[in-house]
Amino acid sequence: MTDFTKTKAMFDIPAGVIYLDGNSLGPLPKDAPVRVANMLKDEWGEMLISGWNKAGWMEQPTRVGNRIASLIGAEENSVVMGDTLSIKVYQAVASALELNPERKVILSDNGNFPTDLYMTGGLIRSLNDGHQLQTVNPEDVEDAIDDTVAVLLLTEIDYRTGRKHDMKRLTEKAHAAGVITIWDLAHSAGALPVKLSECNADFAIGCTYKYLNGGPGSPAFIYVAPRHADKVRPALSGWLGHDAPFAFDLDYKAGRGIERMRVGTPPVIALTVLETALDIWDMADINDVRTKSIELCDLFIKEVEARCPQLTLDTPRDGAGRGSQVSFQFADGYAAMQALIAHGVVGDFRAPDTMRFGFTPLYIDKTDVLAAVDILENILTNSLWDTAEFKTKSAVT
Ligand SMILES: *Cc1c(COP(=O)(O)O)cnc(C)c1O
Repeated sequence: MTDFTKTKAMFDIPAGVIYLDGNSLGPLPKDAPVRVANMLKDEWGEMLISGWNKAGWMEQPTRVGNRIASLIGAEENSVVMGDTLSIKVYQAVASALELNPERKVILSDNGNFPTDLYMTGGLIRSLNDGHQLQTVNPEDVEDAIDDTVAVLLLTEIDYRTGRKHDMKRLTEKAHAAGVITIWDLAHSAGALPVKLSECNADFAIGCTYKYLNGGPGSPAFIYVAPRHADKVRPALSGWLGHDAPFAFDLDYKAGRGIERMRVGTPPVIALTVLETALDIWDMADINDVRTKSIELCDLFIKEVEARCPQLTLDTPRDGAGRGSQVSFQFADGYAAMQALIAHGVVGDFRAPDTMRFGFTPLYIDKTDVLAAVDILENILTNSLWDTAEFKTKSAVT
């Protein structure tokens, strides 16, 4: 059993704050500042350029990738780190389309995170080969899968509502129709058990600054099923994905397996923070995290519905049908969230009217949930949000 008191003690959360926004940006692992300071002094400072060999910087993207692999049910050496999730969307869609050259449709849903759709649109424009992006309602995805579709691009957990797609069933249906699948795990990795290998997923991508707590801008990951890894052609054919980067050959030859999905120089400092964050995951069992997360979300839903009738639940009630967040709709949700934050409960807001709350058992417990609802109830009952101060929008919501 995971000892959640111990994991909670590993995070640096400011006094008086109940942090329900780990679904957007996980909090700081207490060990990170020292680890990074040591890396800067002992590795960069002392070793200078020899750090690439001596400190293992060059292998870091695959070393860290293997630690992520164990959290998402992926095979050894099937995940590599680098760049941002937006870039990984581009890489995955480009390679997936080449595996299905006769077909032109990329199917997604209109609950997907916009960058996944924007990046796909940009790729389609560059390809200039008649591809089209088709988006349907999330509940209509299954029926829209047919033999015209080249690639199914889905985010498993809806960033706004927390609704969960059935990865296994949709992947099976896609494969039966000859469709290549890409699963975006932005709100899955570290939130619930993912079984990429068992589901036979083709590609997966995700970020590490949400439930994995890698810090702002921490690098993304990409998974390619081992059966495809030596076949896929990288669209972002950078030198570090080359078979022999230091041969400086003028002709590109893709590296072995997942290595070919590397692009350029890895962000060593950011990866060091992420490695520190992943040490906490070594203390946790993702199945325990899931069980506790469902309990916390259920409790939050029950208490809010009983005490805050102004809010409307916008997340599946059934724990198995959602990720690790709960969303409520409220017309003045932006102002209400600002008031909540001012009172120490940090969640976030997604236009037009969604108040989002992420629950991460690694550092959130029942006491936090109940205390957060007390504050929310007070703000709503007394309309404490109804001031000019709380209605002024910031750039990041
Ligand atoms: C958070 C999120 C992103 C963010 O992409 P970045 O390139 O890391 O900014 C993309 N897609 C989904 C589904 C997300 O939830």
